[in-house]
Amino acid sequence: MISGLACHGLCEDAVTLFHQMESFGLRPDERTMTAVLSACRNAGWVSEGFAYFNSMRCKYGVKPTIQHYGCMVDLLARTGHLDEAEEFIRKMPIEPDVVLWRTLIWASKVHGDIDRSERLMNDRGVLKMDSDDCGSYVLLGNVYASAGKWHDKAKMRGLMNQKGLSKPPGCSRIEVDGLVHEFAAGDSGHIEAEKIYAKLDEVEERLKAEGYHPKLSEVLLEIDNEEKAFQLRHHSEKLAVAFGLIKTSPGTEIRIVKNLRSCEDCHSVMKLISKIYQQDIIVRDRIRFHHFINGDCSCKDYW
Ligand SMILES: [Zn+2]
Ligand SMILES: [Zn+2]
Repeated sequence: MISGLACHGLCEDAVTLFHQMESFGLRPDERTMTAVLSACRNAGWVSEGFAYFNSMRCKYGVKPTIQHYGCMVDLLARTGHLDEAEEFIRKMPIEPDVVLWRTLIWASKVHGDIDRSERLMNDRGVLKMDSDDCGSYVLLGNVYASAGKWHDKAKMRGLMNQKGLSKPPGCSRIEVDGLVHEFAAGDSGHIEAEKIYAKLDEVEERLKAEGYHPKLSEVLLEIDNEEKAFQLRHHSEKLAVAFGLIKTSPGTEIRIVKNLRSCEDCHSVMKLISKIYQQDIIVRDRIRFHHFINGDCSCKDYW
């Protein structure tokens, strides 16, 4: 329950519940500690996070595992304490895994410290690029793209192809009137596809009038800008939300489940739709829940 609250961005409630649990004399275990640290991470509470982390061993007798270290790295990194996060990883008593490094590289990108992300990406020990896990390639590709290094991004893509790795295609589901509709990126197989694409065009016009610019760095391939904008417009959650807008009346909540992490462009589109169309949207992506209400998201733009 604590982790559920934390996952939905209700971090204060999560911490209150933790203290209630303590006051009942229940001793937190490893999983409870992960949940309370996740709450601190999602809320960006650095000093509280450290207080819980430091009390784990002495107060609760719980030995920190890689998950707990992961929460702390994520907390430091997302709040922009990049030096501290890097030092924390280097001084960990257990071997840091590739996920911790990826977290820091991603945060460096988000906070505009491209030098740090490139230095870490070039440290071959860090990302263990020989493995068959496509996560590091996708991450590198995204960092290069946001720095405008399309050539390097394409190289990553080539390396993935060589190794026979592929990013699973994006896919979003939405339930309308008790029926689940599934959309893949660029999908035109839906029976109401024509209406959906027309709705998307209308949505984009209204968003542009509000100052929206497509974020082209989210597109994988080295292609011209018009084609990039085209691909971006057809990400699966955008198709799902357009369908949702057609099928539901204003004021109704739209709920979408997506198999991958949402891209930055889709995230800002969802925020704008929630404001312009006055419909709350909930997207569960691979990482967490996003509640879009009146132009804001519960993740506070960090996911
Ligand atoms: Zn997207
Ligand atoms: Zn969000």
